[in-house]
Amino acid sequence: MGIASTEDERALDERQHLLVAVATSAGLPSGLTVLLEHVGLSAGFAAARVWTMDEDGALGCAGTWSREIPDAGPTRGRLGRLRTAEGPLATAWRSLTGIAALEDRAGIPALAPDPETTGWTPGCTVLVPFADGEGVLALAEFVAAADAPHNHARLAEEAGDLELLLPVLRQLASTDALRESETLFRTITKFAPEAIISCDGQSLIRFWNRGAESVFGYSEAEVVGKPVSMLLPDWDNQAPYLLRAFAVTSNKRRLSAQTVEMEGLSPEGRTLAIELSLASWQTRDGSRTTLIARDISQRKAVEKQLRSSEIRFRGAFDHAPIGLMMVDLRESHKGVLLKVNRALCVMSGFSAEELVGIEFQRLIHPDDFETATAAMAQFTGGVGVQHRFQLELRLVRRDEGVRWAALSVSGITDDEGKPSYALAHVQDITERKETEAKLTQMALHDPLTGLANRALLMEQLDQSLHRSARQGGQVAVLFIDLDRFKVINDSLGHDAGDELLVTVAQRLGSCLRGSDTAARLGGDEFVVVCENVENNEEALAVAHRLEQAIGAPTAIKGVDTIVTASIGVVMAGSGASADSLLRDADAAMYKAKDGGRGRFEMFDASIGSIASKRLQTESELRRALAQQEFRVHYQPIVDLSNSALVGVEALVRWEHPERGLLAPIDFLPIAEETGLIVPLGTWVLQEACRQVAEWQRDVPTARELSVSVNLAAAQVSCHDLVDVVEDAVASSGIAPSELCLEITESVLLDATNDATSRLIGVKGLGVRLALDDFGTGYSSLTYLRRFPVDAVKIDKTFVNGLGTDPADEAIVDAVVGLAQSLGLAAIAEGVETREQAEALQAMGCRFAQGYLYSKPLPADQLLALLRAGNRLGTRDAERAVPRGRIAWPTSRRIPGR
Ligand code: C2E
Ligand code: CA
Ligand code: CA
Repeated sequence: MGIASTEDERALDERQHLLVAVATSAGLPSGLTVLLEHVGLSAGFAAARVWTMDEDGALGCAGTWSREIPDAGPTRGRLGRLRTAEGPLATAWRSLTGIAALEDRAGIPALAPDPETTGWTPGCTVLVPFADGEGVLALAEFVAAADAPHNHARLAEEAGDLELLLPVLRQLASTDALRESETLFRTITKFAPEAIISCDGQSLIRFWNRGAESVFGYSEAEVVGKPVSMLLPDWDNQAPYLLRAFAVTSNKRRLSAQTVEMEGLSPEGRTLAIELSLASWQTRDGSRTTLIARDISQRKAVEKQLRSSEIRFRGAFDHAPIGLMMVDLRESHKGVLLKVNRALCVMSGFSAEELVGIEFQRLIHPDDFETATAAMAQFTGGVGVQHRFQLELRLVRRDEGVRWAALSVSGITDDEGKPSYALAHVQDITERKETEAKLTQMALHDPLTGLANRALLMEQLDQSLHRSARQGGQVAVLFIDLDRFKVINDSLGHDAGDELLVTVAQRLGSCLRGSDTAARLGGDEFVVVCENVENNEEALAVAHRLEQAIGAPTAIKGVDTIVTASIGVVMAGSGASADSLLRDADAAMYKAKDGGRGRFEMFDASIGSIASKRLQTESELRRALAQQEFRVHYQPIVDLSNSALVGVEALVRWEHPERGLLAPIDFLPIAEETGLIVPLGTWVLQEACRQVAEWQRDVPTARELSVSVNLAAAQVSCHDLVDVVEDAVASSGIAPSELCLEITESVLLDATNDATSRLIGVKGLGVRLALDDFGTGYSSLTYLRRFPVDAVKIDKTFVNGLGTDPADEAIVDAVVGLAQSLGLAAIAEGVETREQAEALQAMGCRFAQGYLYSKPLPADQLLALLRAGNRLGTRDAERAVPRGRIAWPTSRRIPGR
């Protein structure tokens, strides 16, 4: 069927219902009543009656309809006296052809018997004959109220239509013929664009109109006698139910056809969507069913499209990668979950069945419960009702695991604008949250040990100070620095160093109470903050515990190692700041280090002044280096056999603008700590070489003068050591063999593979190496075998005891003996007395330096000494100094290399 406007469609619908209603009515009276109602209503009349004439010529009322009259009046009477335009009704009856106004209504039984009580006065009365070739069959009488508008023309039009129904009515009138005849339907068919099909009790098609032909595409011949299921495949299943439903509705006064939708089939197998109006009744030989079918394929296609988009929506909901839940906001079910999708089920571990119907709060972590409820209240909270918000909270899974979720919630409002549902998008953000937490952890913790970092330490120290100010109890800060950590790091590798740091961190942790904080500041520096400490003794006890814990042996890379730590302790006085406490603890730690390492030290004011002096010195040192305030003094080294000056040791001094000439002890430790020792040492090396080369050129007796320069550990650690030394030698012009570099035992002890190969590189230049302060360090004598040294310098502490301390004598004797057996030169330091010099000589020590011969002297004074050519340390100042030189071993093979 084409596209009809809704108006047209409604008219068609009505007509269809009318046809069916009339055709299927129980008999003529009820069929007519249906017609009266239809026509009366549409033309604006208030009541109607149908009159038929019996064999005696008496008129009887065959049916009444009224819209507003309580009692439509008598149903029997004689109309013989009534006149129409064609004459008295009784005579005109058979020949009435059109509608006629009743001219004389006098004897007509009133439709409304009592205008007084009904308040209704009859106005126009119109008669409509139902006639065909055989004459008038019945007369319809329509009455309008006196004052009511009615539509004569419309009535005429409708009546014209009614005439078309006449055969139907006639059939209805002659019962037997009516019930047998299929002409009834043929007549209707003529005027119906719809498919009208009639079936017998076996559902075989008996009647088929042109509408059916156009809807289903079969000709009458093709279908009559065939089962209707060839058109409506589902008919056999549906029919019993449909017909029963129809029977129920048809009992009502106003008939309406039962309408259902079914699938139809065209001959080409095309599926049609069919809307069926159907009626069924009993005939003598069984039941009969009339179907009026409309092709609604097009409408269905549109519906299907809608439905599929609905399915798509539902699919999108169910399969959305993000969790979705719909929450009821209506008063009685507030918070109940109405709908959840798969993603939410996966996220929560619950099935949809478990979730739907419970309150959404059941999914929410108890700690976030309030937030969630408060947020939901925004929808229903009256003032400032929000329709969309976002929040982050934790969900508790079925397995009690906790997931972080970001919720984006929108309210869905009802007709009155009140939110009735909330749709929440639930995104699992656990990973993001974990990353965030990790980032925070990273920002505040040392990644290696997991301890607090400096930032967190300062924050917690601040908090501890505040707490102690409020609640009493003191705060102690312990600054811990590992001793010789660098040795382990350089010799066993950074992995080993890291391993050690982790071990130390764990050991610190095991010593602390819950309220204490351990932090790593970087490198091998740790800080522990203890709250609620009673007094200094308790703080020192903690320091002792920490030291014991750190000092326990540990296997690093399979090597049993013992690390010690130097610890500075400070108690927070009132008004102390985190910064100042850390600085004081640091200063106390340095004191512990200076005092011999592996110790702890309580901070006091004197340390504070050392510390601040230290700080001051550092910036001054930088300046001094830039402004060349450093000087080199030279201490002669003599040949004990003839007191000849054979060499000098270069010793640095600082000509401080205010404090005067400073000895190395006053500034070298800080230069070492700050790394300034490296540029300073390079400068001393260059200056000493340059100076000695100058003397060699200028003073004939000094042509083979050698120079000893002290090398700090940091210089040995520098990768460019060999280049620096080579450069100093080359640019000064001295012979490499006339330069001796002094390194202490501890430098050798701490030397990494790289440092060792650098020292070998230096030796490769032809430069000499001497082991300084021999005997004071940790090295065993076997070190001498492993390193390529040319000389040992016997420390002055042993020389001091010569002649007085037999133990020192024994040590010096052994050292000299060892040096001889290894082919090394032995140089005694700090020789102050002739006795010492003689003892050394007796032991076979060849060279010496000390106040006996000369203090370290500025360059000009040493030049004077060289020029004078005096023997040093002799009373006979006039005796010329013989030429001499340090007897370096000629060739020394290093065992194992
Ligand atoms: P050192 O290498 O053992 O130098 C010898 C120290 O003994 C010098 O102290 C010297 O003045 C002192 N001395 C010499 N003879 C006697 C004596 O008969 N009696 C006494 N009591 N002392 C004597 P100084 O000059 O104060 O140097 C101290 C230390 O500073 C040096 O000990 C050395 O380790 C270091 N040093 C000095 N200059 C440099 C340098 O340019 N670089 C490096 N890395 N260290 C240096
Ligand atoms: Ca030295
Ligand atoms: Ca020394």
